[in-house]
Amino acid sequence: MTIVDTPERRQLRELARAFVTKEVLPYLDDWERAGEVPRSLHETAAKVGLLGIGFPEQVGGSGGDLLDSIVVTEEIIRSGGSSGLVAALFTHGIALPHMVAARNEDLIDRYVRPTLAGTMIGALAITEPDGGSDVAGIRTTACRDGDHYVVNGSKTYITSGVRADFVTTAVCCDFPGSGELSLLVIEKGTPGFAVGRPLEKLGWHCSDTAELSFTDVRVPVANRVGPEDTGFIAIMQHFATERLSLATQAYAIAQRCVELAVRWCRDRSTFGRPLASRQLIRHRLAEMHTRAEAARAYVHDVAERVAAGQPVVTEVAMAKNVAVAACDQVVDQALQLHGGFGYLRDAEVERHYRDARILGLGGGTTEIMNEIIAKGMGL
Ligand SMILES: Cc1cc2nc3c(=O)[nH]c(=O)nc-3n(C[C@H](O)[C@H](O)[C@H](O)COP(=O)(O)OP(=O)(O)OC[C@H]3O[C@@H](n4cnc5c(N)ncnc54)[C@H](O)[C@@H]3O)c2cc1C
Repeated sequence: MTIVDTPERRQLRELARAFVTKEVLPYLDDWERAGEVPRSLHETAAKVGLLGIGFPEQVGGSGGDLLDSIVVTEEIIRSGGSSGLVAALFTHGIALPHMVAARNEDLIDRYVRPTLAGTMIGALAITEPDGGSDVAGIRTTACRDGDHYVVNGSKTYITSGVRADFVTTAVCCDFPGSGELSLLVIEKGTPGFAVGRPLEKLGWHCSDTAELSFTDVRVPVANRVGPEDTGFIAIMQHFATERLSLATQAYAIAQRCVELAVRWCRDRSTFGRPLASRQLIRHRLAEMHTRAEAARAYVHDVAERVAAGQPVVTEVAMAKNVAVAACDQVVDQALQLHGGFGYLRDAEVERHYRDARILGLGGGTTEIMNEIIAKGMGL
Protein backbone atom coordinates (compact mmCIF):
# COMPACT_ATOMS: atom_id res chain seq x y z
CA MET A 1 0.00 0.00 0.00
CA THR A 2 1.43 3.38 -0.99
CA ILE A 3 0.93 6.69 0.82
CA VAL A 4 -1.83 7.69 -1.62
CA ASP A 5 -3.54 4.31 -1.41
CA THR A 6 -4.89 4.37 2.15
CA PRO A 7 -8.56 3.44 2.75
CA GLU A 8 -9.40 7.16 3.32
CA ARG A 9 -7.72 8.22 0.10
CA ARG A 10 -9.41 5.42 -1.81
CA GLN A 11 -12.72 6.84 -0.58
CA LEU A 12 -11.64 10.31 -1.69
CA ARG A 13 -10.83 8.90 -5.12
CA GLU A 14 -14.29 7.37 -5.34
CA LEU A 15 -15.85 10.67 -4.32
CA ALA A 16 -13.91 12.55 -7.04
CA ARG A 17 -14.75 9.91 -9.66
CA ALA A 18 -18.47 9.99 -8.80
CA PHE A 19 -18.43 13.82 -8.94
CA VAL A 20 -16.84 13.79 -12.40
CA THR A 21 -19.19 11.12 -13.72
CA LYS A 22 -22.34 12.89 -12.52
CA GLU A 23 -21.50 16.60 -12.50
CA VAL A 24 -18.79 17.03 -15.15
CA LEU A 25 -18.78 14.52 -18.01
CA PRO A 26 -22.29 15.32 -19.32
CA TYR A 27 -21.41 19.04 -19.57
CA LEU A 28 -17.66 19.34 -20.17
CA ASP A 29 -17.91 19.81 -23.94
CA ASP A 30 -20.44 22.64 -23.42
CA TRP A 31 -18.13 24.34 -20.91
CA GLU A 32 -15.21 24.00 -23.31
CA ARG A 33 -17.29 25.84 -25.92
CA ALA A 34 -18.58 28.42 -23.41
CA GLY A 35 -15.02 29.18 -22.23
CA GLU A 36 -15.82 28.75 -18.54
CA VAL A 37 -17.34 26.45 -15.94
CA PRO A 38 -20.56 27.57 -14.22
CA ARG A 39 -20.47 29.09 -10.75
CA SER A 40 -22.96 26.43 -9.61
CA LEU A 41 -20.25 23.78 -10.10
CA HIS A 42 -18.24 25.39 -7.28
CA GLU A 43 -21.20 25.08 -4.91
CA THR A 44 -21.82 21.48 -5.93
CA ALA A 45 -18.14 20.60 -5.43
CA ALA A 46 -18.24 22.30 -2.01
CA LYS A 47 -21.38 20.41 -0.97
CA VAL A 48 -19.84 17.01 -1.70
CA GLY A 49 -16.70 18.02 0.20
CA LEU A 50 -14.23 18.27 -2.69
CA LEU A 51 -13.69 22.02 -2.98
CA GLY A 52 -12.21 22.41 0.51
CA ILE A 53 -9.78 19.48 0.37
CA GLY A 54 -6.32 20.60 1.49
CA PHE A 55 -7.69 23.46 3.63
CA PRO A 56 -8.21 23.12 7.40
CA GLU A 57 -11.73 22.85 8.76
CA GLN A 58 -11.07 25.94 10.96
CA VAL A 59 -11.10 28.11 7.82
CA GLY A 60 -14.05 26.38 6.17
CA GLY A 61 -12.14 23.62 4.39
CA SER A 62 -12.68 19.87 4.41
CA GLY A 63 -9.29 19.07 5.94
CA GLY A 64 -6.63 16.88 4.38
CA ASP A 65 -3.18 17.78 3.13
CA LEU A 66 -1.26 18.22 -0.10
CA LEU A 67 -1.41 14.49 -0.83
CA ASP A 68 -5.20 14.52 -0.56
CA SER A 69 -5.35 17.44 -3.02
CA ILE A 70 -3.09 15.45 -5.34
CA VAL A 71 -5.39 12.43 -5.11
CA VAL A 72 -8.38 14.60 -6.09
CA THR A 73 -6.57 16.23 -9.03
CA GLU A 74 -5.29 12.88 -10.25
CA GLU A 75 -8.70 11.21 -10.07
CA ILE A 76 -10.58 14.07 -11.76
CA ILE A 77 -8.32 13.79 -14.80
CA ARG A 78 -8.14 9.99 -14.81
CA SER A 79 -11.90 9.68 -14.72
CA GLY A 80 -12.32 11.74 -17.89
CA GLY A 81 -12.22 15.32 -16.54
CA SER A 82 -9.51 17.67 -17.65
CA SER A 83 -6.65 19.80 -16.36
CA GLY A 84 -8.56 22.88 -17.62
CA LEU A 85 -11.40 21.91 -15.31
CA VAL A 86 -8.96 21.50 -12.40
CA ALA A 87 -7.49 24.95 -13.17
CA ALA A 88 -10.92 26.60 -13.24
CA LEU A 89 -12.54 24.86 -10.29
CA PHE A 90 -9.53 24.84 -7.96
CA THR A 91 -8.05 28.29 -8.66
CA HIS A 92 -8.55 28.97 -4.97
CA GLY A 93 -5.66 26.54 -4.44
CA ILE A 94 -3.41 29.43 -5.48
CA ALA A 95 -5.64 32.39 -4.46
CA LEU A 96 -6.25 31.51 -0.80
CA PRO A 97 -3.22 29.85 0.86
CA HIS A 98 -1.43 33.15 1.58
CA MET A 99 -4.48 34.41 3.54
CA VAL A 100 -4.72 31.17 5.50
CA ALA A 101 -0.99 31.23 6.29
CA ALA A 102 -1.21 34.87 7.43
CA ARG A 103 -3.95 33.79 9.90
CA ASN A 104 -5.90 36.95 9.16
CA GLU A 105 -9.34 36.11 10.57
CA ASP A 106 -10.99 39.06 8.82
CA LEU A 107 -9.72 37.99 5.37
CA ILE A 108 -10.53 34.36 6.18
CA ASP A 109 -14.13 35.30 7.02
CA ARG A 110 -14.62 37.61 4.04
CA TYR A 111 -12.86 35.56 1.32
CA VAL A 112 -11.61 32.12 2.38
CA ARG A 113 -14.82 30.70 3.89
CA PRO A 114 -17.20 31.85 1.09
CA THR A 115 -14.77 30.60 -1.56
CA LEU A 116 -14.47 27.18 0.03
CA ALA A 117 -18.27 27.12 0.32
CA GLY A 118 -18.43 27.69 -3.44
CA THR A 119 -20.21 31.06 -3.24
CA MET A 120 -17.20 33.19 -4.22
CA ILE A 121 -14.47 32.73 -6.83
CA GLY A 122 -10.90 33.92 -6.30
CA ALA A 123 -7.85 34.32 -8.53
CA LEU A 124 -4.14 34.98 -8.06
CA ALA A 125 -2.55 37.74 -10.14
CA ILE A 126 1.22 37.84 -10.34
CA THR A 127 2.07 37.87 -14.06
CA GLU A 128 2.21 41.22 -15.88
CA PRO A 129 2.36 42.05 -19.59
CA ASP A 130 6.07 42.92 -19.20
CA GLY A 131 6.90 39.44 -17.93
CA GLY A 132 5.97 36.58 -15.63
CA SER A 133 9.20 34.68 -14.99
CA ASP A 134 10.83 37.60 -13.18
CA VAL A 135 8.43 37.76 -10.23
CA ALA A 136 10.57 40.28 -8.36
CA GLY A 137 10.31 42.62 -11.36
CA ILE A 138 6.60 43.34 -10.81
CA ARG A 139 5.63 46.90 -11.74
CA THR A 140 2.06 47.23 -10.41
CA THR A 141 2.33 49.82 -7.64
CA ALA A 142 0.38 50.34 -4.42
CA CYS A 143 0.94 53.74 -2.79
CA ARG A 144 -0.27 54.22 0.78
CA ASP A 145 -2.89 56.97 1.24
CA GLY A 146 -4.26 56.90 4.81
CA ASP A 147 -6.02 53.61 5.42
CA HIS A 148 -6.02 52.73 1.70
CA TYR A 149 -3.53 51.77 -0.99
CA VAL A 150 -3.88 53.33 -4.44
CA VAL A 151 -3.11 50.62 -7.01
CA ASN A 152 -1.95 51.22 -10.60
CA GLY A 153 -0.79 48.67 -13.15
CA SER A 154 -1.95 45.60 -15.06
CA LYS A 155 -1.87 41.82 -14.92
CA THR A 156 -2.32 39.22 -17.64
CA TYR A 157 -3.04 35.52 -18.23
CA ILE A 158 -4.98 35.37 -14.94
CA THR A 159 -6.80 32.05 -14.45
CA SER A 160 -10.46 32.53 -13.47
CA GLY A 161 -9.86 36.27 -13.78
CA VAL A 162 -13.06 36.76 -15.81
CA ARG A 163 -15.30 35.17 -13.17
CA ALA A 164 -13.33 36.05 -10.02
CA ASP A 165 -15.05 38.06 -7.28
CA PHE A 166 -11.65 38.95 -5.82
CA VAL A 167 -8.06 38.77 -6.91
CA THR A 168 -5.08 38.20 -4.63
CA THR A 169 -2.76 40.64 -6.36
CA ALA A 170 1.01 41.02 -6.18
CA VAL A 171 1.93 44.70 -5.93
CA CYS A 172 4.97 46.75 -5.20
CA CYS A 173 4.65 49.31 -2.39
CA ASP A 174 8.06 50.77 -3.21
CA PHE A 175 9.27 52.00 -6.62
CA PRO A 176 8.30 49.75 -9.61
CA GLY A 177 10.63 46.79 -10.00
CA SER A 178 12.17 47.21 -6.51
CA GLY A 179 11.45 43.55 -5.73
CA GLU A 180 9.70 44.43 -2.47
CA LEU A 181 6.31 42.83 -3.04
CA SER A 182 3.07 42.80 -1.08
CA LEU A 183 -0.20 40.97 -1.62
CA LEU A 184 -3.54 42.81 -1.71
CA VAL A 185 -7.00 41.29 -2.09
CA ILE A 186 -8.79 43.45 -4.67
CA GLU A 187 -12.53 43.04 -5.16
CA LYS A 188 -14.26 43.07 -8.50
CA GLY A 189 -16.40 46.20 -8.78
CA THR A 190 -13.87 48.42 -7.01
CA PRO A 191 -13.73 51.64 -9.12
CA GLY A 192 -10.76 51.60 -11.50
CA PHE A 193 -10.46 47.79 -11.55
CA ALA A 194 -11.27 46.58 -15.08
CA VAL A 195 -11.43 43.02 -16.40
CA GLY A 196 -10.62 42.66 -20.10
CA ARG A 197 -12.22 40.27 -22.57
CA PRO A 198 -11.61 36.54 -22.01
CA LEU A 199 -8.30 35.56 -23.62
CA GLU A 200 -8.55 32.83 -26.29
CA LYS A 201 -6.12 29.97 -25.83
CA LEU A 202 -4.71 26.78 -27.38
CA GLY A 203 -6.10 24.61 -24.56
CA TRP A 204 -7.74 24.86 -21.12
CA HIS A 205 -10.84 26.09 -22.97
CA CYS A 206 -13.19 25.65 -20.01
CA SER A 207 -10.88 27.75 -17.85
CA ASP A 208 -11.40 31.50 -18.30
CA THR A 209 -8.26 33.61 -18.50
CA ALA A 210 -8.20 37.39 -18.17
CA GLU A 211 -6.24 40.56 -18.46
CA LEU A 212 -6.79 42.91 -15.51
CA SER A 213 -6.05 46.62 -15.21
CA PHE A 214 -5.89 48.88 -12.18
CA THR A 215 -6.24 52.65 -12.46
CA ASP A 216 -6.13 54.51 -9.14
CA VAL A 217 -7.92 51.60 -7.46
CA ARG A 218 -8.42 52.32 -3.75
CA VAL A 219 -7.91 49.15 -1.72
CA PRO A 220 -8.35 49.16 2.09
CA VAL A 221 -5.16 48.45 4.05
CA ALA A 222 -7.25 45.77 5.79
CA ASN A 223 -7.08 43.81 2.50
CA ARG A 224 -3.31 43.40 2.72
CA VAL A 225 -2.22 39.78 3.23
CA GLY A 226 0.53 39.65 5.85
CA PRO A 227 2.91 42.54 6.56
CA GLU A 228 3.99 44.93 3.80
CA ASP A 229 6.94 43.76 1.66
CA THR A 230 6.57 40.07 2.61
CA GLY A 231 4.74 39.15 -0.60
CA PHE A 232 7.74 37.74 -2.48
CA ILE A 233 8.52 35.20 0.25
CA ALA A 234 4.81 34.30 0.57
CA ILE A 235 4.54 33.75 -3.20
CA MET A 236 7.69 31.60 -3.28
CA GLN A 237 6.52 29.50 -0.30
CA HIS A 238 3.24 28.62 -1.99
CA PHE A 239 4.79 27.97 -5.41
CA ALA A 240 5.63 24.42 -4.21
CA THR A 241 1.93 23.50 -3.97
CA GLU A 242 1.10 25.08 -7.33
CA ARG A 243 4.03 23.39 -9.07
CA LEU A 244 3.17 19.99 -7.62
CA SER A 245 -0.45 20.45 -8.66
CA LEU A 246 0.71 21.16 -12.22
CA ALA A 247 3.08 18.17 -12.04
CA THR A 248 0.13 16.02 -10.92
CA GLN A 249 -1.99 17.28 -13.80
CA ALA A 250 0.89 16.35 -16.13
CA TYR A 251 1.34 12.74 -15.04
CA ALA A 252 -2.44 12.25 -14.67
CA ILE A 253 -2.94 13.40 -18.28
CA ALA A 254 -0.19 10.95 -19.26
CA GLN A 255 -1.89 8.11 -17.36
CA ARG A 256 -5.27 8.91 -18.87
CA CYS A 257 -3.75 9.06 -22.37
CA VAL A 258 -2.11 5.66 -21.86
CA GLU A 259 -5.53 4.23 -20.94
CA LEU A 260 -7.16 5.85 -23.98
CA ALA A 261 -4.37 4.61 -26.26
CA VAL A 262 -4.50 1.05 -24.90
CA ARG A 263 -8.27 0.96 -25.42
CA TRP A 264 -7.92 2.32 -28.94
CA CYS A 265 -5.11 -0.07 -29.90
CA ARG A 266 -7.11 -3.08 -28.71
CA ASP A 267 -10.19 -2.02 -30.70
CA ARG A 268 -8.54 -0.76 -33.87
CA SER A 269 -7.46 -3.29 -36.48
CA THR A 270 -5.18 -2.58 -39.41
CA PHE A 271 -4.04 -5.08 -42.06
CA GLY A 272 -6.37 -7.65 -40.46
CA ARG A 273 -5.02 -7.51 -36.89
CA PRO A 274 -5.58 -5.32 -33.80
CA LEU A 275 -2.92 -2.67 -33.39
CA ALA A 276 -2.21 -3.99 -29.88
CA SER A 277 -1.07 -7.32 -31.33
CA ARG A 278 1.98 -5.72 -32.97
CA GLN A 279 5.20 -5.66 -31.01
CA LEU A 280 6.10 -2.13 -32.09
CA ILE A 281 2.79 -0.82 -30.72
CA ARG A 282 2.96 -2.92 -27.53
CA HIS A 283 6.45 -1.62 -26.80
CA ARG A 284 5.41 1.94 -27.46
CA LEU A 285 2.51 1.57 -25.02
CA ALA A 286 4.86 -0.05 -22.50
CA GLU A 287 7.23 2.92 -22.74
CA MET A 288 4.37 5.41 -22.37
CA HIS A 289 3.10 3.56 -19.30
CA THR A 290 6.59 3.45 -17.77
CA ARG A 291 7.10 7.20 -18.26
CA ALA A 292 3.74 8.05 -16.68
CA GLU A 293 4.25 5.73 -13.70
CA ALA A 294 7.83 6.92 -13.06
CA ALA A 295 6.68 10.55 -13.09
CA ARG A 296 3.82 9.71 -10.74
CA ALA A 297 6.11 7.95 -8.27
CA TYR A 298 8.60 10.83 -8.22
CA VAL A 299 5.90 13.51 -7.81
CA HIS A 300 4.38 11.54 -4.91
CA ASP A 301 7.79 11.18 -3.29
CA VAL A 302 8.46 14.93 -3.47
CA ALA A 303 4.91 15.80 -2.38
CA GLU A 304 5.32 13.60 0.68
CA ARG A 305 8.49 15.49 1.58
CA VAL A 306 6.76 18.87 1.06
CA ALA A 307 3.83 17.73 3.25
CA ALA A 308 6.37 16.75 5.92
CA GLY A 309 7.76 20.30 5.85
CA GLN A 310 11.11 19.46 4.24
CA PRO A 311 12.84 22.24 2.24
CA VAL A 312 12.78 20.63 -1.21
CA VAL A 313 12.56 23.58 -3.61
CA THR A 314 14.96 21.94 -6.09
CA GLU A 315 13.14 18.62 -5.98
CA VAL A 316 9.79 20.36 -6.61
CA ALA A 317 11.26 21.98 -9.72
CA MET A 318 12.65 18.59 -10.86
CA ALA A 319 9.31 16.89 -10.21
CA LYS A 320 7.51 19.47 -12.36
CA ASN A 321 9.97 19.10 -15.22
CA VAL A 322 9.98 15.28 -15.04
CA ALA A 323 6.17 15.10 -15.09
CA VAL A 324 5.80 17.70 -17.86
CA ALA A 325 8.39 15.92 -20.05
CA ALA A 326 6.61 12.58 -19.51
CA CYS A 327 3.26 14.17 -20.31
CA ASP A 328 4.52 15.88 -23.49
CA GLN A 329 5.93 12.61 -24.84
CA VAL A 330 2.95 10.47 -23.86
CA VAL A 331 0.20 12.78 -25.20
CA ASP A 332 2.05 13.10 -28.49
CA GLN A 333 2.40 9.32 -28.84
CA ALA A 334 -1.19 8.73 -27.72
CA LEU A 335 -2.50 11.10 -30.38
CA GLN A 336 -0.28 9.44 -32.99
CA LEU A 337 -1.64 5.99 -32.13
CA HIS A 338 -5.19 7.27 -32.60
CA GLY A 339 -4.37 8.12 -36.23
CA GLY A 340 -6.56 10.76 -37.90
CA PHE A 341 -9.23 10.42 -35.21
CA GLY A 342 -6.74 11.74 -32.64
CA TYR A 343 -6.71 15.07 -34.46
CA LEU A 344 -10.47 15.54 -34.19
CA ARG A 345 -12.37 17.50 -31.53
CA ASP A 346 -14.41 14.33 -30.87
CA ALA A 347 -11.33 12.56 -29.51
CA GLU A 348 -10.61 13.05 -25.80
CA VAL A 349 -6.91 12.67 -26.54
CA GLU A 350 -7.07 15.81 -28.72
CA ARG A 351 -8.16 17.90 -25.71
CA HIS A 352 -5.40 16.49 -23.52
CA TYR A 353 -2.85 17.22 -26.26
CA ARG A 354 -3.88 20.91 -26.27
CA ASP A 355 -4.33 21.18 -22.50
CA ALA A 356 -0.93 19.68 -21.77
CA ARG A 357 1.03 22.49 -23.45
CA ILE A 358 0.43 25.00 -20.64
CA LEU A 359 1.97 22.77 -17.97
CA GLY A 360 5.56 23.62 -18.93
CA LEU A 361 4.68 27.34 -18.90
CA GLY A 362 2.42 27.98 -15.89
CA GLY A 363 3.66 28.21 -12.31
CA GLY A 364 7.20 28.85 -13.58
CA THR A 365 8.42 27.65 -16.97
CA THR A 366 10.59 24.60 -17.62
CA GLU A 367 13.55 26.95 -18.12
CA ILE A 368 12.92 28.69 -14.78
CA MET A 369 12.67 25.25 -13.10
CA ASN A 370 16.06 24.42 -14.65
CA GLU A 371 17.46 27.68 -13.20
CA ILE A 372 16.28 26.58 -9.73
CA ILE A 373 17.74 23.09 -10.23
CA ALA A 374 21.08 24.54 -11.41
CA LYS A 375 21.22 26.79 -8.33
CA GLY A 376 20.46 23.75 -6.14
CA MET A 377 23.47 22.06 -7.78
CA GLY A 378 25.61 25.02 -6.70
CA LEU A 379 26.00 26.26 -10.29
C1 LIG B 1 -3.37 29.64 -19.50
C2 LIG B 1 -2.48 30.39 -18.57
C3 LIG B 1 -2.89 30.57 -17.24
C4 LIG B 1 -2.10 31.32 -16.37
N1 LIG B 1 -2.56 31.58 -15.10
C5 LIG B 1 -1.90 32.49 -14.33
C6 LIG B 1 -2.45 32.93 -13.08
O1 LIG B 1 -3.51 32.48 -12.65
N2 LIG B 1 -1.78 33.88 -12.37
C7 LIG B 1 -0.59 34.39 -12.80
O2 LIG B 1 -0.02 35.24 -12.12
N3 LIG B 1 -0.03 33.98 -13.99
C8 LIG B 1 -0.65 33.05 -14.75
N4 LIG B 1 -0.12 32.64 -15.94
C9 LIG B 1 1.15 33.21 -16.37
C10 LIG B 1 2.32 32.21 -16.36
O3 LIG B 1 2.68 31.92 -15.05
C11 LIG B 1 3.45 32.88 -17.16
O4 LIG B 1 3.06 32.86 -18.51
C12 LIG B 1 4.78 32.21 -16.99
O5 LIG B 1 5.26 32.39 -15.67
C13 LIG B 1 5.84 32.76 -17.96
O6 LIG B 1 5.86 34.15 -17.94
P1 LIG B 1 5.78 34.94 -19.34
O7 LIG B 1 4.65 34.40 -20.11
O8 LIG B 1 5.79 36.39 -19.06
O9 LIG B 1 7.12 34.54 -20.11
P2 LIG B 1 8.54 35.26 -19.99
O10 LIG B 1 8.91 35.42 -18.57
O11 LIG B 1 8.55 36.45 -20.87
O12 LIG B 1 9.47 34.13 -20.64
C14 LIG B 1 9.48 33.89 -22.06
C15 LIG B 1 10.40 32.69 -22.34
O13 LIG B 1 11.74 33.00 -21.89
C16 LIG B 1 12.16 32.01 -20.97
N5 LIG B 1 12.99 32.65 -19.95
C17 LIG B 1 12.64 33.72 -19.18
N6 LIG B 1 13.64 34.04 -18.37
C18 LIG B 1 14.65 33.16 -18.61
C19 LIG B 1 15.96 32.98 -18.09
N7 LIG B 1 16.44 33.74 -17.11
N8 LIG B 1 16.74 31.98 -18.59
C20 LIG B 1 16.25 31.17 -19.56
N9 LIG B 1 15.01 31.30 -20.10
C21 LIG B 1 14.23 32.28 -19.62
C22 LIG B 1 10.90 31.42 -20.38
O14 LIG B 1 11.13 30.12 -19.87
C23 LIG B 1 9.98 31.42 -21.59
O15 LIG B 1 10.25 30.28 -22.37
C24 LIG B 1 -0.86 31.85 -16.81
C25 LIG B 1 -0.46 31.64 -18.13
C26 LIG B 1 -1.26 30.94 -19.01
C27 LIG B 1 -0.80 30.78 -20.44
